[in-house]
Amino acid sequence: MTQNTPSGTRRDPDDIHARREVIVVGGGQAGLAIGYFLAQQGRDFAILEASDESAAAWRARWDSLRLFTSVRYSSLPGLPFPGDPDRYPTRDEVVAYLTEYARHFQSPVELGSRVRSLRRTDGTYLLETDDRTYAAGQVVVATGPFQAPFVPAIAERLDPEVVQLHSTAYRRPDEVPDGPVLVVGGGNTGFQIAEELAASREVHLSIGSRQTPLPQRILGRDLFWYLEATGLIRKTAASRIGRRMSGRDTLIGSRPRTMRRRHGVRLHGRAVAAAERTVSFSDGERLDVDAVIWATGFKVDHSWIDVPVFDDRGRVVHQRGVTEVPGLYFLGLSWLHTRGSALIGWVEDDAEYLAREIGRFQTPAPIEAPAREGAA
Ligand SMILES: Cc1cc2nc3c(=O)[nH]c(=O)nc-3n(C[C@H](O)[C@H](O)[C@H](O)COP(=O)(O)OP(=O)(O)OC[C@H]3O[C@@H](n4cnc5c(N)ncnc54)[C@H](O)[C@@H]3O)c2cc1C
Repeated sequence: MTQNTPSGTRRDPDDIHARREVIVVGGGQAGLAIGYFLAQQGRDFAILEASDESAAAWRARWDSLRLFTSVRYSSLPGLPFPGDPDRYPTRDEVVAYLTEYARHFQSPVELGSRVRSLRRTDGTYLLETDDRTYAAGQVVVATGPFQAPFVPAIAERLDPEVVQLHSTAYRRPDEVPDGPVLVVGGGNTGFQIAEELAASREVHLSIGSRQTPLPQRILGRDLFWYLEATGLIRKTAASRIGRRMSGRDTLIGSRPRTMRRRHGVRLHGRAVAAAERTVSFSDGERLDVDAVIWATGFKVDHSWIDVPVFDDRGRVVHQRGVTEVPGLYFLGLSWLHTRGSALIGWVEDDAEYLAREIGRFQTPAPIEAPAREGAA
């Protein structure tokens, strides 16, 4: 018998390629971290990763990216990030570290395996990739906090000759045409890209909502040292202070004033309209542009999940990653539990917690056939 799935494919649910106790979807830092704990439990599990390469999300970030977390705060469980603990790793070092992590622990990552649909039938999860169906007793969705690039609708109004890139497509300055460039987005990504471009051209930065600027180092210590020492990094999303913190993004190591004075970047308000080559800002200013880089963030994409774990706004309903549907978990989302939930150095807290939940989970016992009369 065949069935329809959200991806529109039709496949015989009896045609199972592999059965596992647990399947983890996504082989980034969150998937690898929970894999570490599942391996310790001796579980039969697989990690299905869409990309053909490890550390796919980090590879898709710009060349000069440096982490805002130092080496000391960038390790996954069981394998320290190499090098001076007070250094800030580059993108390529993170790629190398995650690749080595998977190799070191022989994580059962199956590359090139994008899960197109997930559904639950008779207590078993069925996951379909382009060419295979997997069955699992439990599933962890670790597909990342930053998935589908988001660009505001005004982008469509710009003349096709204006070069437009989302930050995920930005790699280095020489790929952006000469001439004034507008970077839209007042978060860490927008600030870092604007600063890099300002060394070679006129740069404008549109800041929609001001984020709280925090210095990277205070009195010689890393910001995250203070967040650890004060316990703030582990304050839960439900706590009073957690609710306040989660409602306000932070800008680490940059300030609007420094951007203007030291790097000569011209600051604008929120980009609210666009027509032909002109972008208008909330403060009434207008700017003619040749190129725009949209550092405007991401949306999550869980459209492939056909299990009722979402509220009417499409958000996952969960308690620290545990959904109400038995055996389905989410890991790595921003503020899944704390500020550290989506950070490389703290994802292990939630991963360990979920691994314990997985260990406690009882798969429903198969209904036994009635004993036959006369059987011994
Ligand atoms: C620009 C930027 C800078 C950052 N800097 C830092 C920093 O300095 N320090 C820090 O701690 N954190 C940082 N973060 C936050 C966080 O650490 C990263 O976003 C990190 O990549 C999240 O890891 P993850 O494993 O949860 O998700 P990802 O790294 O996004 O991994 C998810 C994986 O799932 C795969 N996938 C997605 N959908 C499917 C599917 N349907 N089937 C199979 N596989 C799928 C993807 O290919 C991907 O490999 C940064 C984030 C950004 C965007």
